Amino acid sequence: MKGFTTRIVHSDRQDSIEHGSLHKPVHATVAYGYEDARDLAAVFQGTQPGYTYGRQVNPTVEALQSKISGMENGLQTVCFGTGMAAIGTMLFALLRNGDHFVSSAFLFGNTNSLFNSFAAHGVDVSFVDATSVDAVAQAINERTRLVFVETIANPRTQVSDLAGVGRLCRERGLVYVVDNTMTSPYLFQPAAVDASLVVNSLTKYIGGHGNALGGAITEMGRFDWSTFSNIYDTYQTGAPEKWGITQIKKKGLRDFGAALGPEAAHHIAVGAETLALRMERQCATAMAMASYLESHDKVKRVYYPGLPSHPQHGRAEALFRHPGALFSFELTAEVDIWAFMNRLEVVVKSSNLGDNRTLAIPVAHTIYFEMGPERRASMGIDDSLIRISVGIEDTDDLLSDLQQALEG
Ligand SMILES: *Cc1c(COP(=O)(O)O)cnc(C)c1O
Repeated sequence: MKGFTTRIVHSDRQDSIEHGSLHKPVHATVAYGYEDARDLAAVFQGTQPGYTYGRQVNPTVEALQSKISGMENGLQTVCFGTGMAAIGTMLFALLRNGDHFVSSAFLFGNTNSLFNSFAAHGVDVSFVDATSVDAVAQAINERTRLVFVETIANPRTQVSDLAGVGRLCRERGLVYVVDNTMTSPYLFQPAAVDASLVVNSLTKYIGGHGNALGGAITEMGRFDWSTFSNIYDTYQTGAPEKWGITQIKKKGLRDFGAALGPEAAHHIAVGAETLALRMERQCATAMAMASYLESHDKVKRVYYPGLPSHPQHGRAEALFRHPGALFSFELTAEVDIWAFMNRLEVVVKSSNLGDNRTLAIPVAHTIYFEMGPERRASMGIDDSLIRISVGIEDTDDLLSDLQQALEG
């Protein structure tokens, strides 16, 4: 098999592509016309391949879907308008009132908020410290259907016991969902830990340029959906490995409607071509910045899985190609967080992560503000915590920017 980047860059042209175009063209269309009405009916009934309606299928989006399946070594991918739409639609399609699932407590803030909304609609969730497989095992009950973890959590960079939870899910026959956004399929393929479904926010590293939103769910083909009681009869046809993703596409994407547009799919597909190149640079710079900050006397603590001081450093080294391009740190009491941030010149004060530009955000005062001081304290979010998403700028420029902002 060819290498990671070769496969991405040449994936479109492996299909018969319009006019020999090297990029899959942007099909800005909602509907698809047929000469013979019987073909239209056959496509709707699934006995003939083809396109029905833009909410479910679009050729540009499909080209991206097969690219992502290739990157994750998965069976089939469905794209959505955002990462949140992917996660929400997946749970909406797979879980029912009275079901229970276990989630890592160290979660992207909006995912945490979404899971609490599911609880209000009769799907219970237990949040546990997923850096320990025992905590996950203890939370499982007879109603548990699924376990959800992130690879590296944001902003504190905890690394879940990905392999341990994978073995546990296999033993207990549970669907294992891994959000791979922070690592991306270049740093880590959740297939290695027996994931059933993989989530990627395409908005972040895969798209990379901060110019398009998108999300994806990839079926890894390792779960026997004939053992999962929530699959509707209509979708219990063909190979059981595909029943889950079919229900996510039909019940989820079609009925809920959070579709990815063809223009965004094109931006993301172009961005994905340089994922490996960007990640190499971003991870190397993250290591340099985190090491510099850890040795600085105005910095209290640095959280980065690449540092030997990180509690899951060994696990990150064993699982990931590199320890990621995001870290966070706390300033000592003598440094004013606002003065420090406002002195930054290269680093942009902004949310988002995975952009080509380096972005910094004061976590407690922005993305974690809504949850209040008590929940923040329980999640270890200090008022001085700053999250940095490292971009592709020249490493020396970023190091000098940190230095002048700390010492200015
Ligand atoms: C950003 C993010 C999401 C949500 O993705 P959007 O595209 O912003 O909706 C989900 N999970 C993780 C880990 C993220 O970082």
